[in-house]
Amino acid sequence: MASKTKSKSRSEGERGKVYLVGAGPGDLGLVTLRAKQCIEQADVIVHDHLANPEMLGWARDDAEIIYAGKRAGEHLLSQQEINTLLVEKACGGKQVVRLKGGDPFVFGRGAEEAKAIVDAGIEFEIVPGITSAIAGPAYAGIPVTHRAENSHVTFFTGHEDPGKTESAIDYAALAKLGGTQVMLMGVERLEPITREMLKQGVREDLPVALVRWGTTGRQETLTGTLKNIAPRAADRGFQAPAVAVFGEVVALRESLNWYEKRPLSGKRIVVTRSRKQASALSGKLRALGAHVFELPTIRIEPPADLREFAELVQDAHAYDWIIFTSANGVEAFFEIFFKLYDDAREIGGAKIAAIGAATTQRVKDFRLHVDLQPDEFIAEAVVREFRKQGGVENLRVLLVRAEKGRDVLLKQLSALGAIVDEGFAYRTVPETRDTTGARQQLLEEGADLITFTSSSTVENFLALGVPWPKGMRVASIGPITSKTARDHGLKIDVEASRHDIDGLVQAIRDFFER
Ligand code: SAH
Repeated sequence: MASKTKSKSRSEGERGKVYLVGAGPGDLGLVTLRAKQCIEQADVIVHDHLANPEMLGWARDDAEIIYAGKRAGEHLLSQQEINTLLVEKACGGKQVVRLKGGDPFVFGRGAEEAKAIVDAGIEFEIVPGITSAIAGPAYAGIPVTHRAENSHVTFFTGHEDPGKTESAIDYAALAKLGGTQVMLMGVERLEPITREMLKQGVREDLPVALVRWGTTGRQETLTGTLKNIAPRAADRGFQAPAVAVFGEVVALRESLNWYEKRPLSGKRIVVTRSRKQASALSGKLRALGAHVFELPTIRIEPPADLREFAELVQDAHAYDWIIFTSANGVEAFFEIFFKLYDDAREIGGAKIAAIGAATTQRVKDFRLHVDLQPDEFIAEAVVREFRKQGGVENLRVLLVRAEKGRDVLLKQLSALGAIVDEGFAYRTVPETRDTTGARQQLLEEGADLITFTSSSTVENFLALGVPWPKGMRVASIGPITSKTARDHGLKIDVEASRHDIDGLVQAIRDFFER
């Protein structure tokens, strides 16, 4: 359980700092390294609707996370309240990250926030982000410039500050200027805007594209011409957030569309794992185009009796075998081991067995050899392997495991004559918080598939009591997880034949390709 939580010693009265951080357009891979660093060290994070909430998983466990809104029709905090909040937190000595979708200085009122901060005499830093104005089109296969098509790009807003006069955007000038024009906000006002452009003499058949939720797993693109795009968008109920691209470059999408063609494009998949573990599975599904809801159902916590576990770890060298049943167990074990000892050789002559590829990998990460890795990743297979290796009679075995879990290994190894100590390395508790808003999103938007990677993820998901979205299928990592799911009345649609993350991803791919 390598904890990211580091308490920093800051002297009393020290002033804080505000980081206005661009969260990028949605794809987690499009966040800058600097933004990630800022999130990791923040005391307070103030985020809004367009910043991908998954990145809050990088925050320290003790960071204060504040959702500032705003979705259409839902303003949690007014701009004035946000400004005040940032100033107050920084005056309290906090490192404050203000996380804003795209780039903080592109149509996001970042400039106003920066002004409020500087007026309050507070130190600040700007971390630019990749703006949706460029990334949205790029992920739809539309380069905002092309040497043969245009030599300038204009960004404009379709959502006027209500305080401004009606004609703040000079559509006559835009019409004359030509080039590529990218509009942020204002898909709701597409009809009057395109009408105005036509009135100013822009040609009717100018290619136009709307890119909704660009660079995320739920990206959708609608193309048309200046004349027909507004009725098309209305027909389809095409909603914000979207960028609109006006210009010849839109036609390049014909050949350059890439993102929407990946194997899992458009599939909404729920990943149920503890927050820290989810990234491997989610990352792989996202790379194939899926829209992943990371729904943490469990959280890893220290065991009820950490001291007892630590004593077993201290005596690790006295065992003939140490058996790890999960990557969490490996982490918890070595976290303590290296607090007690500064030399890996203190593990003595103990041999190591690991169940599952991820567990094995975690052991190898600590530069230790895995002596026994059953070819099937289930406990029964471990017993079979030990039998093959001449048995375990009178051997001392340390079984590193979760507090709750199956005790088949203990029973069977004891039956074979082994002297087994169980080390409870950690416990899993239901994750009842919804810090990333994933649960809310699942309720609102539904999903195509849910993944279960262990029996406890099944049990914990069901324990959350989230209504089952209509038509949501089930993918399981292996027979034991499937059995648990069936026992709870679920039907298994996909079961991995290799019981690890890669095996599960492959099975899901095959399922949707069929
Ligand atoms: N600072 C942001 C823009 C904030 S204004 C940036 O640089 O991207 C909000 C508008 O941005 C939305 O109305 C929409 O037009 C656009 N937008 C933000 N994220 C988007 C996304 N993922 N896909 C499409 N449009 C997006």
